[in-house]
Amino acid sequence: MTPRMEEKINELLEEAYKRGKEAIPSGHVATYIPELGKANPMDLGISICTREFDHFNIGATDKRFTIQSISKIISLAIALDMFGPDKVFERVDMEPSGEAFNSFVDLDTKSNKPMNPMINSGAITVASMLLGHVSLEEATDVIRKICMDDEIFMNRQIFESEMNHLSRNRSIAYLLESKGLITNVEETLELYTAICSLEVTAESLANMGMIFANDGKISRKSDDRIFSKRTTEIVKTIMLTCGMYDRSGRFAVDVGIPTKSGVGGGLISVADNLAGIGIYGPALDDKGNCIAGTPALMYLSRELQLHLFRKDSLLDRLITLKLKAKLI
Ligand code: GLU
Repeated sequence: MTPRMEEKINELLEEAYKRGKEAIPSGHVATYIPELGKANPMDLGISICTREFDHFNIGATDKRFTIQSISKIISLAIALDMFGPDKVFERVDMEPSGEAFNSFVDLDTKSNKPMNPMINSGAITVASMLLGHVSLEEATDVIRKICMDDEIFMNRQIFESEMNHLSRNRSIAYLLESKGLITNVEETLELYTAICSLEVTAESLANMGMIFANDGKISRKSDDRIFSKRTTEIVKTIMLTCGMYDRSGRFAVDVGIPTKSGVGGGLISVADNLAGIGIYGPALDDKGNCIAGTPALMYLSRELQLHLFRKDSLLDRLITLKLKAKLI
């Protein structure tokens, strides 16, 4: 990439970082898992991985934090590839819930299955499907591969902290069991919580985002893929409609990039065919999403024209220019 193009992207990234930082004082780190409460709320890192696998980083992009709910997209993708969409959606729906991530109101009163796989009830159902088919080690290997990061390990303190404060998820899981949707409640909860406790960085999430943007392929030139094209299409669509919990609708309008959040402060965004963006900022908004992420992504989306329904992306033009420059 020419210095001018790099400069342009770095300038935009700096401004996005600044806007994210300004939002942080209104957020709070999650404390319902006590160990998460130890995070530094002022931390912020933003990483962009373009489809040429060029990286642009600012701030705390190599700081490790637990993946939490971002793992829901991986568990879903593994289940979709393993069992097929029909089997998965027999047990969990694909509708936005409009309820908090750990709510079970809809499950108890409105429907006979969780509203979608991005809320805890849906993800616990998916974890129970994986139980006995995919071990924690195998799931970790998939996450290492898609993040292009061999240093991903479980944070045992955070895992234990969550296991010791599991009343809410345990209630959800027993409700699911009562409806005949899951079996082996305690083992399912352990697998679900362990996968949530794997530690990634903003940069590894940017890589994961890029591989989803690439329809599951690890490079544009090779056919080597981690997930099938159909699986990534389904996952990206559900990220767009349900990935930011009960802020998904507004976020889709304002930012227009499929994104998934985690209460550890992570965000993964998939600018289809163009880039993956990973963010770490543990100060959360009232819905449990990284509070710095929305203004930062809104800005990047507008300036680089990354909104799903915007044509003629600036980032696309910069990358294409790079290819042309290489050919000359
Ligand atoms: N492990 C967390 C939980 O089950 C994940 C929630 C999230 O990241 O939104 O509560």
